[in-house]
Amino acid sequence: MARIGPVFISHGSPMLALNKTPAHEFLARLGEQLPRPKAILCISAHWETPKPMASTAAKPETIHDFSGFPEPLYRLRYPAPGAPELAQHAIELLRAAGIESTTDAGQGLDHGAWVPLMLMYAKADIPVAQLSIQFPKDARWHLDLGRALAPLCDEGVLVLGSGSAVHNLRALEFNANGNITPWAQEFEHWLDQMIQQGDTDALANYRQQAPHAARAHPRDEHILPLFVAAGAAQGKPGKLLHRSFEAGSLAMSAWAWP
Ligand code: ZN
Repeated sequence: MARIGPVFISHGSPMLALNKTPAHEFLARLGEQLPRPKAILCISAHWETPKPMASTAAKPETIHDFSGFPEPLYRLRYPAPGAPELAQHAIELLRAAGIESTTDAGQGLDHGAWVPLMLMYAKADIPVAQLSIQFPKDARWHLDLGRALAPLCDEGVLVLGSGSAVHNLRALEFNANGNITPWAQEFEHWLDQMIQQGDTDALANYRQQAPHAARAHPRDEHILPLFVAAGAAQGKPGKLLHRSFEAGSLAMSAWAWP
């Protein structure tokens, strides 16, 4: 099976599924640009548990874990098969690295997983398992989690982090008209530089080192999946696949690692 490097994508608002934004168009092309994975392990910002859990449902439900959005969004379903063997394997890798973790048979696909996957793999024919994040554990914890999962990349599994490169919902400006909020741009550029340099230590200390880190991520669950993907890359430099901003500061950036 061909190796597939880890990928991080920003999922922004659930409306990503319907609105033909630059990020939507990017994701709709991304699936065919990557080698075809045998399965996907998605680390979404929207599944937090105290210890890592991997979903083993054979037919994961589409979870509409948002409220106040237009009705057509609630009719969408993503019927991809689950990947219970992959989930089990991921847990074994984590345990081998000394990270206590378990499976969860009840967890479906949250919108951080199914919305981008619906664009990337519209046929829903690639098995998907999810792995949870551990807020408030820090960047370094999630880099270590990713490092333990690195063997999956060589097995043809797509390790897909899904969050947002900048995520401060209070700072959204819906009349931004394409203008980018300077502090958000500065933070995103720092992140991009560190990823392109493969500077894992800087990423691990992003809250101290990155400009405007606390403003870009008041609560950092949306950036934690990025560290899992970067950890799975084991310090290799990554490259920017996409950059766009919505509502002034919501960065829709995506990176891939070799
Ligand atoms: Zn989200």
